[in-house]
Amino acid sequence: MTKYVFDFTEGDKDQKDLLGGKGANLAEMTKLGLPVPPGFTITTEACREYLAHGSAPGELRVQVTTALRQLEDTLGRRLGDRHDPLLVSVRSGAAFSMPGMMETVLNIGLNDASVKGLAEESGDERFAWDSYRRLLQMFGKTVLEIPGEVFSDMLDKAKSTKGVSSDVDLDVDDLQALVATFKDAVREHSGQEFPQHPREQLDMAINAVFDSWNTDRARLYRRRERIPQHLGTAVNVCTMVFGNLGQTSGTGVAFTRDPASGRPGAYGDYLSNAQGEDVVAGIRNTLSLDDLKALDPSSHKQLIKVMRRLETHYRDLCDIEFTIERGKLWMLQTRVGKRTAAAAFRIAAQLVDENLITMDEALSRVSGSQLALLMFPHFDRSAPRELLTTGMAASPGAAVGRAVFDSPTAKAWADRGEQVVLVRRETNPDDLEGMIAASGILTARGGKTSHAAVVARGMGKTCVCGAEELDVDASTRTARVGTVLIEEGDEISIDGSTGEIFLGPMPVVPSPVETYIEAGLASALKGADDETTALVKAVDRLLTHADIRRRLAIRANADTTEDAVRARSLGAQGIGLCRTEHMFLGDRRVLIERVILAGNTEERDAALAALLPLQRGDFAELLDAMDGLPVNIRLLDPPLHEFLPDRTELAVKVALAEARGETGEQLDVDRKLLAAVQRLHESNPMLGLRGVRLGLLTPGLFALQVRAIGEAMADQIAAGKDPKVEIMVPLVGSIMELLLVRDETEQILADVAAERGVTLTVPIGTMIELPRAALTAHRIAEAADFFSFGTNDLTQTTWGFSRDDVESTVFAAYLEKGVFTISPFETIDADGVGRLVEIAAKEGRTTKPGLKLGVCGEHGGDPESIHFFHRTGLDYVSCSPFRLPVARLEAGRAAVS
Ligand code: PEP
Ligand code: MG
Repeated sequence: MTKYVFDFTEGDKDQKDLLGGKGANLAEMTKLGLPVPPGFTITTEACREYLAHGSAPGELRVQVTTALRQLEDTLGRRLGDRHDPLLVSVRSGAAFSMPGMMETVLNIGLNDASVKGLAEESGDERFAWDSYRRLLQMFGKTVLEIPGEVFSDMLDKAKSTKGVSSDVDLDVDDLQALVATFKDAVREHSGQEFPQHPREQLDMAINAVFDSWNTDRARLYRRRERIPQHLGTAVNVCTMVFGNLGQTSGTGVAFTRDPASGRPGAYGDYLSNAQGEDVVAGIRNTLSLDDLKALDPSSHKQLIKVMRRLETHYRDLCDIEFTIERGKLWMLQTRVGKRTAAAAFRIAAQLVDENLITMDEALSRVSGSQLALLMFPHFDRSAPRELLTTGMAASPGAAVGRAVFDSPTAKAWADRGEQVVLVRRETNPDDLEGMIAASGILTARGGKTSHAAVVARGMGKTCVCGAEELDVDASTRTARVGTVLIEEGDEISIDGSTGEIFLGPMPVVPSPVETYIEAGLASALKGADDETTALVKAVDRLLTHADIRRRLAIRANADTTEDAVRARSLGAQGIGLCRTEHMFLGDRRVLIERVILAGNTEERDAALAALLPLQRGDFAELLDAMDGLPVNIRLLDPPLHEFLPDRTELAVKVALAEARGETGEQLDVDRKLLAAVQRLHESNPMLGLRGVRLGLLTPGLFALQVRAIGEAMADQIAAGKDPKVEIMVPLVGSIMELLLVRDETEQILADVAAERGVTLTVPIGTMIELPRAALTAHRIAEAADFFSFGTNDLTQTTWGFSRDDVESTVFAAYLEKGVFTISPFETIDADGVGRLVEIAAKEGRTTKPGLKLGVCGEHGGDPESIHFFHRTGLDYVSCSPFRLPVARLEAGRAAVS
């Protein structure tokens, strides 16, 4: 029989796949002897069965009964008993944390009879009725799918009728009345009575948690976070402990270090006389842990002790949920906490200094995408500004955009290309789409642990929350601070590192991490405050360690001197791809036109000769900028028609001129040009006359480029420099193509060497960007000194995806349907395209041990792909200059993982 139910005493933190993150960590805390209320976890496997068959497996019912009886026997109370009821919570918990995405029902077991028992047993009638109304509210919304506002509106009405602003000011009579109204609402909206039987409540709640796995917002969240859609969630059934038992009780969330800045020391929000989500929902403003210390020193002390224990045990920042019931601390959840990019670097460095982790582990705790976030610009602090108000710095970054007040507007405006800041009183999970669309998120209520803050941090989005002076009115699409009015569409700027909110657009400047990477440590630390210094030093330590540990060399894709200089300053160890086609555009396009239009050999040679000095100059500059480092120059790749005018425009031009009866030289040229354009026109130019095929069929073209390279090298050598060139042939599919180009290239280089009296050592290699090239790599390697994987074309030709078309036409639907979770042009498709890379790497090196292997497709700068290339044994990755720091860090991480 499959075991679907595990007691909290049975599992541990490594069983996340089966027990979900929450269940696994509850079990771990139980094992550590921390105060966890007893309970059990229903596995993700049960959920998958339920979702596949539309009903829970038969054994589950039996196993839940056994687990429940055991719980009842341990505690000496029965679920929903009319005298001393056991109450339980039912909470979702998937293997990957999905904050706020799925469901929780508290106080299961309360009914018209047991509410009285609870009142008697606790000696607090108000508490019992408050718990009952919460059950009705949560059960109604989550299990019976009644809109949440039905209940929250009634609650608001009860408060306003009584003239109070907070739910804690409602007394027993008010709550009893509210319970009656809620029950009516349940009947009216769901067509059924609220179930009085405790076990029925429990089973319905469990199924509702299973169902919550597949809500639209949960699916959207998973797509974004690249969490597989089939995993399912576990369900945790846990004995209730009560934070709503008066002023000596409460509930809170805390982090063992500040998850926003990375500052050491515990950080948290606490709300007394509250239950469940109250603390993160922003319904009342929260207290800090220091406030809790003043309020209840002994619980605070206990809490700090538990947090220290957890940090030592998990050796990382932990976040926790806790409840204090009449002075007794209970742990309801822990996990390794989400954090901002800055906090990730700072905390990793701190943990090394505290001897909790090694430098290698620290490196594995940060990521290239976090580093990329830290390189984003900040607001210029010296610019004139109009500070509107300040909230909490919840997720760093500088966002400028037009204020919008609801999620659909954020999405619609962003879709038409506007930058927007989503302004909400507080956010809830339904705002997810708008949060994704917005450049920044601003809320008036809720702390750093509120939904907005947690989700924004997860997405790396700028967020300011809890700006209390901000009075947001979504119905009129306005917000006010005192007399200042912000209307929909007004530009505002929010600083997620300081919490400041400015009217109007603020100018932005480079971040200190960017300054560090471009100009070095000293420049970045000049005049920096303590926080900035700590951050920059942490980044420096980890990036330096990555450089020490990585096996992959990092090169840049650069075609211009400017890019080459920048790449070198960002740590490039050479150029992995110089696309020479960029040297044939602009003013030079007419020269290419002359080559194409040449009527005979002399004309063509003259046209090519005119290009030679220009090409030589390009290469000399590039070699100068990269002196001493390898420069991989690729011979011309794109189809020639890319250098000619557009076919339709030209045809129209000629037709119009003819219709007007024009004559003359221009028309003759245009006619000739049109004939050439028509001759070169192809239905599938990406699969046509390009790459090596072009070189072999256009006499003199590659020869010109090779001669220019040889002469530029000779000039550099004469000037005492050390040029290191590699010549690369694009789009090779057969060894014969490479051999033909290789022979000609070697001959020309030998000629130049002889003419100039120098030795030219130039490796000649090929791109591997066609499946046939990969599959015949053992042969091609005979003629190649190196391979460079062109994974852009290799993805295009392996999938048969036109790289210029499918991203806009096909991919949105494919991502939606789960064909893949990320574009294969962004992250290497390891199973398909990656397999070709593996075959070519292995077989190429079988023919030629030590064959140099690199990658120069876009994937060379993508974190996940870099790990793949490391595993595949490549020698280097090459990427755009701006991605170099990320690539260095990720190559280091790949080496230590
Ligand atoms: C490639 O195909 O991966 C490549 C680097 O070449 P290009 O993008 O220029 O086709
Ligand atoms: Mg290519």
